[in-house]
Amino acid sequence: MAECDPCSDLTVRQDCRISPHSIKRVLLEFLIDAMAKSHTIVPPVAAFRGIKSPDVFGRLVDTVSDYAIFVLDPSGNISSWNPGAQRLKGYLANEVIGKHFSIFYTAADLAKDKPAHELTMASKVGHFEDEGWRVRKDGTRFWANVIITRLLDDDGQLIGFGKITRDLTERRLSELRYRLLIESVNDYAIFSMDPHGHVTSWNSGAQRIKGYAPDEIIGKHFSAFYPDEDRKAGMPETVLRTAEREGHFEGEGWRKRKDGTKFWANVVVTALRDEEGALTGFSKVTRDLTDRKLLLDELKRHSAELELRIAERDQSNAELEAFAYSVSHDLRAPLRAISGFADALQEDCAQQLDRRGQEYVKEIIDASRRMNMLVQDLLEYGRVGRISAPLASVNLLNAINEARRQLGDVPPGSLKVDVPAVLCVCAHPQMLTQVIFNLLSNALKFHKKDLLPEVQVSAEKRDEYVRLNVRDSGIGIAPEHQERIWNVFERLHGRESYAGTGIGLAIVKRATERMDGSSGVISHPGDGSTFWIELPQGPSK
Ligand code: ADP
Repeated sequence: MAECDPCSDLTVRQDCRISPHSIKRVLLEFLIDAMAKSHTIVPPVAAFRGIKSPDVFGRLVDTVSDYAIFVLDPSGNISSWNPGAQRLKGYLANEVIGKHFSIFYTAADLAKDKPAHELTMASKVGHFEDEGWRVRKDGTRFWANVIITRLLDDDGQLIGFGKITRDLTERRLSELRYRLLIESVNDYAIFSMDPHGHVTSWNSGAQRIKGYAPDEIIGKHFSAFYPDEDRKAGMPETVLRTAEREGHFEGEGWRKRKDGTKFWANVVVTALRDEEGALTGFSKVTRDLTDRKLLLDELKRHSAELELRIAERDQSNAELEAFAYSVSHDLRAPLRAISGFADALQEDCAQQLDRRGQEYVKEIIDASRRMNMLVQDLLEYGRVGRISAPLASVNLLNAINEARRQLGDVPPGSLKVDVPAVLCVCAHPQMLTQVIFNLLSNALKFHKKDLLPEVQVSAEKRDEYVRLNVRDSGIGIAPEHQERIWNVFERLHGRESYAGTGIGLAIVKRATERMDGSSGVISHPGDGSTFWIELPQGPSK
């Protein structure tokens, strides 16, 4: 029934109205035509264009060995069979020639009369292309790209159909896998659009985030996701044109759900292009970042509120300080009068006073002296906060010597200074002397009752800074108190054991900070303390 061609690239039915030679010629023309029209057939068409000789048929068929290429008679019976067809569909030529091509179709397609429909379309239009599941001889299915072209004789009479089938199962499966993957992504809205922005695919994440089912949105324009004001401002168009021009667009903003509610979206739109670079559409990935946005807004609101409160606190602190300063200032005159008259009372009228009277006068003198110290310290604390003189390079040893001079009498041998004469710090000279004075007087004051104070002053360079250490062998400070002693009026002892106002360390802290430095303490109760300050190194003088 079938005749074998010497070239073995084609088997033709014996009773076929068309000779093998003509079949080759029409198949060749058909192939060239089909390849020129189809996107899925990729052999170099140009190489064959113009070579319309049946002799090159073998070459062409080899090149397209992935294809089943055969001819049908006008009613759809198979008239020729090539090796590609045998490989693809599993039938030998003698098993298939003469049979109707509907044997390759699934039961579902047969029920829809698909084979007849395809032939009708091809004979009417000239060309029919389709993709779908087809059946091999062993019953397995493969995803086929099918091109059917009508074949006419020289008088324009239909003599049959040329059919090219390609197995695209792999591509189809990977597309399916890819689609399933995209569709199953729930956290991201992923969809594609045509070049004009009409939605062409829709995943479950898109449905979840935007609220549209696929059939409600596919075919609609994506500007539906934009709030009215953005749509009127032409934002959707800007997004597409930016993606087209630059490859992609990324942005954040409010978008609209189907029910009209808004969500904060992070959006990436990517332009999709074919092999020739022509724009085929866009993909769009949207993330719902509403929670993060609300949280950030809340944080921003809190920090703005905090800044406001800090500003208010600074303001009220400044007012409080101004108040304390003026009160302290105004207290000085009556205080001077009290201590002056108390001194006079003691010096001029001591004989007229009994012992009790004399004790009272002494109490008044002591109290007014303490109050004078307190007022002085408070004034100093306020002054430190207000000094705005620029910092200069100050020789550290000079500042220590000045503080030592101000201290007056110090028990011999109780204060040792080991500071290089060349060390300089960036500081305000009077403030620095005041700070060192406060640290030295504390170190000398808080010694163990029955022992003489032992104080060592040293200094070291630390990167861009100079650290000054004032180490004593005194009573030490428990860890839980080491923070609060830097606050105004914080004292750990009664007046009877150690005199003081509780302002000295507050001045140290404030003054070092004003000089762009810092201060601290390392101490163990009963084992002495090392108070330190760190200031930026100054150029040597
Ligand atoms: P004042 O010395 O006038 O009491 P300060 O502000 O200078 O106030 O110090 C606060 C408190 O810190 C002191 O009352 C004392 O309890 C503690 N203190 C400061 N320096 C030392 C030190 N060298 N050794 C032990 N305790 C100290």
